[in-house]
Amino acid sequence: MTHATDEFARLRQRMVNAQLRARGIRDPRVLAAMLAVPREAFVPEVSKAEVYADSPQPIGAGQTISQPFTVAYMAEAAQLRGAEKILEVGTGSGYGAAVLSHLGAEVHTIERLPALAARATETLKRLGFSNVHVHIGDGTLGLADQAAFDAIVVTAGAATLPPAYSEQLVEGGRIVIPIGRSERNQQLYRFRRGRNALSMDDLGAFAFVPLIGKAGWHPA
Ligand code: SAM
Repeated sequence: MTHATDEFARLRQRMVNAQLRARGIRDPRVLAAMLAVPREAFVPEVSKAEVYADSPQPIGAGQTISQPFTVAYMAEAAQLRGAEKILEVGTGSGYGAAVLSHLGAEVHTIERLPALAARATETLKRLGFSNVHVHIGDGTLGLADQAAFDAIVVTAGAATLPPAYSEQLVEGGRIVIPIGRSERNQQLYRFRRGRNALSMDDLGAFAFVPLIGKAGWHPA
């Protein structure tokens, strides 16, 4: 099934109302970003018909584009005002980075799988997201040569908080990250860096693909 551009726009508007506003996403900048980014451009042909469904969709290589609510909830939790330098760990399709690029000044996003990073780079370039930079590597180590960040958003589930993230964060900066003892079930946390310590908020239960790397889960 193919959809015309205005059909996708209608589905996107419905997604924003039914999946985001109705479930408590309030930040008008987050709602505007979710309305602006064409999610259908970030998924392969087989996933397009379901792209505005209330679920993650496959993007190849055993990975997923996160459910729209999850993308919006994490973006809201990062408390962005427009001037921030952001690190996203887990580029996947590039969609989450595109949403974050509407909310901060500069986005660095890192993906461990080169094929996904290449496709995301191409999509973001084609759509004109010039403030997003895609890197290939192990995002459990952060991105030292671009630090420090005002916010770090991690889109795969960690076993523990990788130490590099707080080291690469400005004072007052936020880390939004799913952490769990199992590879598929996590609690989402927001850490905030104070002068001497990190504070932590529990933002609820989620299920992400595993964060694989030196300071994450081991490859299967
Ligand atoms: N933000 C993505 C989007 O909008 O499509 C969703 C990402 S998907 C839920 C999680 C991604 O994290 C996968 O593409 C996976 O390959 C990647 N990933 C897992 N471990 C990683 C690591 N150590 N460094 C970078 N990326 C990693």
